[in-house]
Amino acid sequence: MRYYILTLFPEMIRTALNESIIGRAAAAGAIELHPVNIRDFSADRHKKVDDYPYGGGAGMVMQAQPIYDAYLFAREKAGEKAPCIYLGPQGATFNQKKAHALAKEEALILVCGHYEGVDERVLEEIATDYISVGDYVLTGGELAAMIVCDATARLLPGVLHNDASAVGESFENGRIEYPQYSRPAEWRGRRVPDVLLSGDHAKVDAWRKEQSLLRTERFRPDLL
Ligand code: SAM
Repeated sequence: MRYYILTLFPEMIRTALNESIIGRAAAAGAIELHPVNIRDFSADRHKKVDDYPYGGGAGMVMQAQPIYDAYLFAREKAGEKAPCIYLGPQGATFNQKKAHALAKEEALILVCGHYEGVDERVLEEIATDYISVGDYVLTGGELAAMIVCDATARLLPGVLHNDASAVGESFENGRIEYPQYSRPAEWRGRRVPDVLLSGDHAKVDAWRKEQSLLRTERFRPDLL
């Protein structure tokens, strides 16, 4: 998967996604992360990328031209078929199902807004999908884009150490995952459930299925 992330703050993306599992996957070539600095495409001699909103109101709006030219650059590399996703509050709320659908693509173009948002005309021109990460307002689309990168990348072969780790996780079968425990077997008087120490895999599986259901009923009854 190749990710082209159109942003005014490429360092945000580089810093965060160079770490940990996603950073290692990129270093190993399992994914490619390409932040594209929208400012580099500004036709303005001062590299301006925003202006006042028509009709008045607070804040600044990102102009169409630099985003469009950054998009043309990314599309050239990503290919015609790559979805172009605008991260914004108006989008459909991101979830595991959407992560699976996007993980099937060969490349994604992710567009991060900032300030008061983006000139609507460029979105009409380039966006094939609109994704929100929840019903709240962020200062920019970068964190949202990173969420989409992280959630999709970990579904790709060679990204997690053990590809089985993603199987049976929360939301994969409409449930929340069972509780996890590690050493020591007793901590502050709390013991790990005996069944997990029994070595009986069938019993462990049955216990985990039951716990998964109980936790879904408790934390996310809406999933059932
Ligand atoms: N004025 C816009 C509104 O009320 O809908 C909000 C603009 S927001 C301050 C700046 C940028 O952050 C947006 O252009 C968008 O790219 C991103 N953003 C904000 N909230 C988001 C969310 N819930 N999901 C994804 N992106 C979001």
